[in-house]
Amino acid sequence: MNYKEALDRLYKTLPEKTLHKERFEMPVAKSFSQGNRTIVTNFVKIMKQINRDEKHALKYITKQTGTFANIDSERLILKGNFSHEEIQNLIRNYIEKFVLCHECKRPDTKIIEQKGVKMLKCEACGAISAVRE
Ligand SMILES: [Zn+2]
Repeated sequence: MNYKEALDRLYKTLPEKTLHKERFEMPVAKSFSQGNRTIVTNFVKIMKQINRDEKHALKYITKQTGTFANIDSERLILKGNFSHEEIQNLIRNYIEKFVLCHECKRPDTKIIEQKGVKMLKCEACGAISAVRE
């Protein structure tokens, strides 16, 4: 086996997602509990990555959890103890609702307003779908 054959074999064994870079990869939240608070250390970073206003996500998370939360520089601080899984689920739900196109599932979207109703507009496929907050 020469070098090129070895390389070909390597590419064939790579999982699909490494070959399709345009495919959306769900960001992973880094969180830990401290006393009666839960801190998400990469919250603002994730929001920048998905191109969304962190205050909007903060509002969503506060509503979902029914607890007090605030942003302290890069971090999200929630009152109460939430497991890593719970935090990840909140982030995932937010992204599925407000970021990923409901049609093609790509993240190239923005939130627009039509007659006072918030809509998710996809730059990739052009789909417009209603956002329920
Ligand atoms: Zn789309």
